[in-house]
Amino acid sequence: MISNFIKTIMEEDLASGKHSEIITRFPPEPNAFLHIGHARAIVTNFELAKCFNGKTILRFDDTNPAKEEKRFMDAIINDIAWLGYTPYKVTFGSDYFDDDYAFAINLIKEGKAYVDDLTKDEMREYRGTLDTPGKESPYRNRSVEENLKLFEEMKEGKFDEGEKTLRVKIDMKSSNLNMRDPAIYRIIKKPHPHTGDKWNIYPLYDYAHPLQDAEEYITHSLCSLEYVEHRPLYDWVIENTKPMSVPRQIEFGRLNIEGTILSKRYLKELVESKLVDDYDDPRMPTLVGLKRRGFTPESIKEFVLSTGLSRINSEIPLNVLDHFLMDDLKLKNVRRMAVLNPLKVTITNYDEGKVEYLDFPNNLENEELGSRKISFSKHLYIEKEDFVEVKPNNKYKRLSLGAEVRLMGAYFIKANEVIKDENGEVVEVLCTYDKETLSGSGFNARKPQGTIQYVDASTAKKAEFRLFDTLIKNDANPDDELKDKFNPDSKQVVYGFVENCYEWEPEFKSQLMRNGYYSNDYDSKEDHIIVNRTVSLKQSFK
Ligand code: ATP
Ligand code: MG
Repeated sequence: MISNFIKTIMEEDLASGKHSEIITRFPPEPNAFLHIGHARAIVTNFELAKCFNGKTILRFDDTNPAKEEKRFMDAIINDIAWLGYTPYKVTFGSDYFDDDYAFAINLIKEGKAYVDDLTKDEMREYRGTLDTPGKESPYRNRSVEENLKLFEEMKEGKFDEGEKTLRVKIDMKSSNLNMRDPAIYRIIKKPHPHTGDKWNIYPLYDYAHPLQDAEEYITHSLCSLEYVEHRPLYDWVIENTKPMSVPRQIEFGRLNIEGTILSKRYLKELVESKLVDDYDDPRMPTLVGLKRRGFTPESIKEFVLSTGLSRINSEIPLNVLDHFLMDDLKLKNVRRMAVLNPLKVTITNYDEGKVEYLDFPNNLENEELGSRKISFSKHLYIEKEDFVEVKPNNKYKRLSLGAEVRLMGAYFIKANEVIKDENGEVVEVLCTYDKETLSGSGFNARKPQGTIQYVDASTAKKAEFRLFDTLIKNDANPDDELKDKFNPDSKQVVYGFVENCYEWEPEFKSQLMRNGYYSNDYDSKEDHIIVNRTVSLKQSFK
């Protein structure tokens, strides 16, 4: 259940009778894929409305015709559905262009808006700085008639881009730079995907957004912290246009995650510079990337809800999200055995050609997931890192010469001898097994040194494992260029084996025992299994 300062405000507004229903909106600009930072905004808006049986509208902020793309809209709709939410309706900022225009005409008639001829650079100069007051534009006192005529001509396309803007008359000496006669319309001579070539002028965000909120009867307009400084303008627009309802803007802290970048611009740059494969590269913090990597919508939602909302931006350590994935899948997922860096093991006292199928539960902590038959024979693979010739100390829990370990779900084996290649590297371990020690047979007189996983070489399937690390280098300097911040070791591909029962299908998820949580890649095929590591057990226990 969601609980935060915004919910408290909503409760008060319902109790006081200010509102009878809660209506929120999620207003993405369809110019990129959504990232997990957006998930904070999505979950917050939908969950808060849900608390009060309210509504959440998905509104595409498409007031700038230069940036929008259909594929981004489709992706946003899919991402929201993937998170488990259904918008009450889907709208477009451009749906309100006529009204935005009508309100602007009124502002001109009331002497509150004027057409300015200052160029962009001049306007910046006139605006002043935090330390110096701004100067009024020489065009500020044009008559209402002249302003109406010029604005009409802007709309009809008589002027070029940049030649004129419509500004509202507020206060050039305001300590808030956003209040120094902000522009509310500029000329853009591009057809718009929804309104075609009807308009040569487009409203700016700070003017259009509050009006859109008002027209949709949004009660609480939630946005991230960088809009605090824009709130006075938001309120000014509402007070001075007197639209159909009075929405309230409330800001919350942005989500940041260590080791990655939550900014559309940079994510776009990563894709365009081909540092990553695409927006759904499993290293990306995009929702499509997290999905491909194996994260579940439940884990992302829980992550957002549990990390909470505050009025300050927060930076969350990377492994917090991992924790929620493990929490979600620990009992839900089947467990499987895999060997990523294989080392041959031969059981010298086991008959050549014999294969046994041993019953093994799919999840030791959840009987409901049933069991499977794991094969066992004379030739096995174990992880290279699960063997050393001489054990370093008594804490060592894996295989070493002269010692015994249990193979998961199977027998105790004892390492007796190694075979080395010409470089002196161990390529095979010769072991003996004790057939009285079958897992679950009740025999427990000796304690093995440890328990390790294995796969049977006669039935194991080859697999490609894709292991991921942080997108951004640990020691990256915030001022570095993106290409220098990028971690070149963020993806590593290793080849190994999965057990005979392993499922090859894309998106199949399992816990690979003693290793981590994995999900098959979209490109996984029966004859070429590709497994993405979602979360490493080893890392997160560090
Ligand atoms: P970016 O800064 O990545 O370009 P944006 O804020 O420009 O993102 P929008 O499409 O405008 O992207 O975002 C839609 C909503 O998502 C906004 O209300 C914004 O405040 C919110 N949002 C974006 N990033 C985050 C974040 N990291 N944490 C919380 N909310 C976010
Ligand atoms: Mg934005």
